[in-house]
Amino acid sequence: MNYNIAVIPGDGIGPEIVAEAEKVLNKVGKKYGHEFTYTEVLMGGVSIDAHGVPLTDGALETAKKSDSVLLGAVGGIVGKDKWYELPPNLRPEAGLLAIRKGLGLFANLRPAYLYDELKEACPLKENIARQGFDMMVVRELTGGLYFGERKTEPVNGVMTATDTLQYNENEIRRIARKGFEIASKRRKNVISVDKANVLDSSRLWSKIVREVAVEFPEVTLTEMLVDNCAMQLVKNPAQFDVILTENMFGDILSDEASMITGSIGMLPSASLAEGKFGLYEPSHGAAPDIAGQNIANPIATVLSAAMMLRYSFDLDKEADAVENAVRKVLEDKYRTIDIMSDGCKQVKCDKMGDLIADRI
Ligand code: NAD
Repeated sequence: MNYNIAVIPGDGIGPEIVAEAEKVLNKVGKKYGHEFTYTEVLMGGVSIDAHGVPLTDGALETAKKSDSVLLGAVGGIVGKDKWYELPPNLRPEAGLLAIRKGLGLFANLRPAYLYDELKEACPLKENIARQGFDMMVVRELTGGLYFGERKTEPVNGVMTATDTLQYNENEIRRIARKGFEIASKRRKNVISVDKANVLDSSRLWSKIVREVAVEFPEVTLTEMLVDNCAMQLVKNPAQFDVILTENMFGDILSDEASMITGSIGMLPSASLAEGKFGLYEPSHGAAPDIAGQNIANPIATVLSAAMMLRYSFDLDKEADAVENAVRKVLEDKYRTIDIMSDGCKQVKCDKMGDLIADRI
C-alpha cells in the first residue's frame, strides 16, 4: 500500500534524525511491500527564514492532505538564536502550537519504556529498575486548564488571578476511547488518573471514563488520584500500562514518566486527531548545541515512526519489527554518545540509522 507522509525536518538536529527515520521506514517498505511517499514541509526557524512565519497556510494544507506527519524538532538556542527577538507568535515554537491546533490533535501519547540495556541510566533504585516498565501516557491535549478562560484583575482591591478548568463530556469521551483503543493493542489495562475527591471536572471525567470502559470489556479499568499516581510512578512503575488523564495532569505525569527512563534521545511521542491521522515526533527538542555534527541519537524519531506505523497505518507487525530492531541494536552494544557506556561501541547518527535498518 502507498502512504503519504508529510515530513517536517525543522531546525537543529531535526534534519539529521528525520533522515534516519525515513531510512528505517524505507527498509520497512522494501521488506513488507509498502511505499512511503514523503512531502517535505517547512516549519519553525527554517520557515521564518524562508517566509517570515513559523508555519504558512500552504504548509499546514500539505500536512492536512497527508496520511500522517513526521516531525523532527523546531527551535534554536533559547535566548541566543536569531529568532529570539521576534514576538512569541512568530517564534519557531509557535509553529508547533499552530500545527497541533490546525490538525485537531487532541490526544498526546508518550510511551515510557525502560530498556534492559539502559537500566543504568534509570534514576530509580536498582531493585525498582530491575523490574523494568513499559507504559503509555495518554493525555488530553486541547481542553482543561490550559485552554479555559483566564483573567487577572483586582477583586475588592486585591489583585486576583483566575484560571478555568473546564471539560465537557464529549471531550472526555473521545480521549477515553483513544485510551481504551490503545490499551486494547497493549496489555489491556487502563489507569484513569484524576482528582475526583476535589474537582467537579474530575468527577465528570470519572463518570464518562466508566461509561466508555463498558464498550471495551476486554480492558480493565482502575482509577487513581493524581497525587498517588505521581508517587506510584517512582515507587512501582511496572504496574502501569496505559495512564489516561487530562491535560495538565498529563503534562506533569508524562514528564515524570520520561524522566525515570533516564534517556531523552530514546523517547518518541504521537499526537492524534479523530480517526487515524497523527503527528509523530521525538519528545526532545532541536538540540541546537549538537546540530550538524552527526552525533544526535535518532532512536526517538525512529520509534516515533514506529508509532506512526502502529497508530495511523495499523501496521502492527511492521511497528514491532522497528521496535525489535532498536532493541537488537542496543543488545549488540551500539550506542550514540548520549547513551554511551563502558564496553559499548560508539556510533554516529547516520550509522545508528543504518544499524537499525539492517536489523529489519
Ligand atoms: P533539547 O531537548 O533540544 O535538548 C536538551 C539536551 O538534550 C541538550 O543537551 C541536547 O543536546 C540533548 N539532546 C536532545 N535530544 C537529543 C538527541 N536526540 N540525541 C542526543 N542528545 C540530545 O531541549 P532544549 O535545549 O531545552 O531546547 C532546544 C530548542 O528546542 C529550543 O529552541 C526549544 O524551544 C526547542 N524545543 C522544541 C521542541 C519540539 O520541537 N517539539 C521540544 C522541546 C524544545
